[in-house]
Amino acid sequence: MSVNASAGKTPAVCAAVLQDVFGYDAFRGPQAEIVSHVSTGGDALVLMPTGGGKSLCYQVPAIVRARAGHGLTVVVSPLIALMHDQVGALLQAGVAAAFLNSSLSSEAAQALEKQVLRGELTLLYVAPERLSTARFLALLDALHQRAQLALFAIDEAHCVSQWGHDFRPEYRALELLHQRFAGVPRVALTATADEITRADIVTHLQLQAARCFVSSFDRPNIRYTIVEKKDGTQQLLRFIRERHSQPNGHEAGIVYCQSRKRVQEVAALLCEAGLQALPYHAGFDAAVRQRHQDRFLREDGLIMVATIAFGMGIDKPDVRFVAHLDMPKNIEAYYQETGRAGRDGEAANAWMAYGLQDVVNQRRMIDESPAADEFKQVQRGKLDALLSLAEASDCRRVRLLAYFGEASAPCMNCDNCLLPPALDDATESARKLLSCIYRVQQASGMAFGAGHITDILRGKRTEKVSQHGHDKLSTFGIGADLGETQWRALLRQLIAREAIQVNAAHFNTLTLAEAARAILKGQAPVWLRRASEKKAVLRSSRASKGVATAPDGQPLSLGERECLAALKVWRTEQARAHNLPAFVILHDSTLRAIAARQPQTVADLDGIAGLGQRKRAAYGTELLRVLGTARGSDDRALGEIGV
Ligand code: ADP
Ligand code: ZN
Repeated sequence: MSVNASAGKTPAVCAAVLQDVFGYDAFRGPQAEIVSHVSTGGDALVLMPTGGGKSLCYQVPAIVRARAGHGLTVVVSPLIALMHDQVGALLQAGVAAAFLNSSLSSEAAQALEKQVLRGELTLLYVAPERLSTARFLALLDALHQRAQLALFAIDEAHCVSQWGHDFRPEYRALELLHQRFAGVPRVALTATADEITRADIVTHLQLQAARCFVSSFDRPNIRYTIVEKKDGTQQLLRFIRERHSQPNGHEAGIVYCQSRKRVQEVAALLCEAGLQALPYHAGFDAAVRQRHQDRFLREDGLIMVATIAFGMGIDKPDVRFVAHLDMPKNIEAYYQETGRAGRDGEAANAWMAYGLQDVVNQRRMIDESPAADEFKQVQRGKLDALLSLAEASDCRRVRLLAYFGEASAPCMNCDNCLLPPALDDATESARKLLSCIYRVQQASGMAFGAGHITDILRGKRTEKVSQHGHDKLSTFGIGADLGETQWRALLRQLIAREAIQVNAAHFNTLTLAEAARAILKGQAPVWLRRASEKKAVLRSSRASKGVATAPDGQPLSLGERECLAALKVWRTEQARAHNLPAFVILHDSTLRAIAARQPQTVADLDGIAGLGQRKRAAYGTELLRVLGTARGSDDRALGEIGV
């Protein structure tokens, strides 16, 4: 496998398809090279983060190759809902596309097969289990004999690997493509980057000779913020209100919680607070889950409160925030989940609240899982990496990318970059904490939990303290200078650094671990964030609350914002009429660009990003009418107030 070997020039025909069909001026990042390689018949493995723009990497080649007489592109995709929306979007753009899955009646499926044989389709989406049926393979054989198979695109290719987070045995059947349809180019795409999964994809799909395109995994438009959990849900509410309420309504977001019970509670609380929130977890039956998911995709400004059961295959581009109310289990999961924000490339937030309890819970889940010891060890290591990200006082993005093997410079778009936390040297306090844990255990022959240890340090004569005689210890009251929260912060940090171990099987008691030695000896400094800094972060972010802007970054005027609101209402009607998500009709950014340009004729709509030829022809006049009406009511209003 060669990695980004020769840099070829994108054929003009690819750029023309991008412009005419999709209405975009330029390819993003590595898209140009990928599209050019695949259009000219090359095999490719594409690793690109969520929102990077994978779909165009096979859709543009499919159109280019179909126009050149190579026939049909078959897209293997694991999720029916996603197929439906992707095909809907392609039809909207005027591309002949269809899907074949279990949702079709057998008559409809047969009619579709005839269409395929007549060469009427450019793209056909199928589920992997359908692809490997004798009937479908026979259909493909017939096309292959006539040299009418243009391309195989394998989406979510990590599903082939049992190391990926979403192994699907049906994907193994795709191994046969290479032998059976020799000479037909293949492109496999995934947002999962880790080494071992990647190697598995190459082996199982026999892509050894394919070119591998690895994008940067950075998502520059996502702002990362991690706060210390206090009153979790109230903090969440403040975060949503401060950063995500718009004059015309709320913005779409996802809130992840650890348990089903918590999902229910949080969804109810958000609704009580006047937000539109829906719960989602595996405890609901399939119909309810489907309904909530559809509403989230189709309506504007809904908040989905969910367990990790929600998200795979959600390609809604305008999710403005992903909030974690509980800590996920590792950085891969965190990155995948936060990656669902801001796929449209516009400003979005990834916000997480975490506390000591999260650390304890995650450790316990690992300890209590039935997995083999080596596996648990790997899981612990991964959790530790996430903990040190949460505890970090330097750039979050630099750490995230470093985890995926990518070097970068401070980003100026994370909490720590925007407001560097003030740090105090807490080495002395850390030593007090460690020696307290040690002395208590020595004196009593048993270990105690975090609450008791802090009580001793702070010199609180609780019943338990007196009962065990811990007020007689030399460490009693030596930490009265720090508050409860600071001791907890220090505890978390020392747990993250493996100086302290939490014994989940023994009532979460604390004992010293390996890294304690260096700290006790004064060989490893410990820094602690000064309390109260977080408030400042929140204050500063209030100023950056989103105001709708034109493509040049200028805020829209009041009149333009009213046009935008009218366009959104129109879009909702269209979406409902076509049974498609609103973003499939037109993106937010496209609507904003239209509102900012104030076109008078259909020709004035030329060159607006996201408005291809087909959509301009279909919607141009309508858009002008909506704008005209909105402007008219505006003029009348101005007339009434005598301007
Ligand atoms: P992925 O599958 O990698 O998560 P998508 O293919 O869904 O990403 O693309 C994410 C969003 O970016 C989509 O809304 C898509 O229309 C948009 N997009 C992709 N490529 C471009 C481009 N070259 N110019 C403008 N928008 C693009
Ligand atoms: Zn940063």
